[in-house]
Amino acid sequence: MSLPVEKNKTYEMIVDALGSNGEGIGRIEGFTIFVEGALPEETIKVLILKTKKSYGYGKLLEIISPSPYRVEPLCPVAKTCGGCQLQHFSYEGQLAYKAKKVKDDLERIGGLKNVDGLTACGMEDPWRYRNKAKFPVGMGKDEGVKIGFYAKRSHRIIDTPVCYLQDPVNDEITAIVRAFMNEFQISAYDEEGHKGLVRHILTRVGRNSGEIMVCIVINGRRLPHSEVLVERLQQILGVVSVVLNINKEQTNVILGKKVVTLWGKETIEDTLGGITFEISPLSFYQVNPAQTEVLYNKAVEMAGLKGNETVLDLYCGIGTISLFFAKKAKKVFGVEIVPEAIADARRNAERNGITNVSFQVGAAEEVIPRLFREQGIRADVIVVDPPRKGCDQTLLDTITSINPDKLVYVSCNPATLARDVARLCEKGFEVKDVQVVDQFPMTVHVETVVLMSRVDK
Ligand code: SAH
Repeated sequence: MSLPVEKNKTYEMIVDALGSNGEGIGRIEGFTIFVEGALPEETIKVLILKTKKSYGYGKLLEIISPSPYRVEPLCPVAKTCGGCQLQHFSYEGQLAYKAKKVKDDLERIGGLKNVDGLTACGMEDPWRYRNKAKFPVGMGKDEGVKIGFYAKRSHRIIDTPVCYLQDPVNDEITAIVRAFMNEFQISAYDEEGHKGLVRHILTRVGRNSGEIMVCIVINGRRLPHSEVLVERLQQILGVVSVVLNINKEQTNVILGKKVVTLWGKETIEDTLGGITFEISPLSFYQVNPAQTEVLYNKAVEMAGLKGNETVLDLYCGIGTISLFFAKKAKKVFGVEIVPEAIADARRNAERNGITNVSFQVGAAEEVIPRLFREQGIRADVIVVDPPRKGCDQTLLDTITSINPDKLVYVSCNPATLARDVARLCEKGFEVKDVQVVDQFPMTVHVETVVLMSRVDK
């Protein structure tokens, strides 16, 4: 059967949607084409690069009529860098897109009707919001060390002297490391040959504390002339910790297990909602603290806590949500699969003097059904904050059997959220409230919080 489009030919097309990677989607005689860089409502000229049975990929050749939301990206490497996907889309447009994505998924996958009036809660200033940066380091052909981000769909490093999503101090830190490596001829890691020393620079900035940590990830045990680097980094206001992370494995995983302190503190601190968290290079911590507070406050508000509730926080990580809820509930019990995260959670509870929380290591879908079977565990409020793949179905079924007054579902993936909502609706729950909170401006990531409870409540 012949397709309506042919490879290497150009066509005119109207873009009508944005795909999950930020690419424009349109149809040519009913045949779906994905085009990077194109926006909904645009008429474009497209060159067909590749065709499959029911869809194809095209290259944006010309914008015949631009979207009213099209803007010039702030960053000069926005087109090639894999970090951001939506800089060419105005922030207003991004928020509208994210709200629509959640609406569409909840209606199409979740089976809900008329999810109207959704808006995404955005940032007043959607730039420079991240508190953690991970810069890969590599060798350029002639131009010396490259520090930046990977290009889209590849591990080619785009040298990025400035990143507008990161704290400005990163521009200073990467400049110092770049100059240091060039001056002392320190080699950068080469992934293909598994040779060379410096792999990544990881930085963490405590937004409220002002404390900064610089971590150099190396494929070796020591960094020559590290005392010079430390001395230079010390000049930056706020730097209180310079550490090495040893990663000698041939792997895409950025961090190894071993951390060596070169100078200063082993961890930095930051506060979120008045709670102090201790952060090491290895610990998980939300990357957009301002919006995390907005998100968790929304979750607390939805739960409508009065002070006498028992709360389950499933997929609790380092206990951020647990500690937020503990201030307003009688008792919180958190479950998380990563033992180190639970160790952090317990330490964070202790250092903040929060005693009405307890944590358990394990898979939520094993721990909770077992506790329900064996001890008849109950809860007034259950919070879930699963990874992208969503909740395990056995867990959802146990949640409906526990029958909490309220279920607060925090999600980083609207598609799996919608799938799980459909399952919960089958079991007699209904959606009472939906809020989209933009945690990741300029990227396609969407964060949603949903309140559910039993239909008859
Ligand atoms: N609520 C936390 C972290 C959410 S991220 C916060 O806001 O900081 C999702 C967490 O789920 C991760 O910490 C991950 O390690 C954990 N996780 C993944 N699969 C799990 C499972 N089957 N059971 C319990 N936790 C799991």
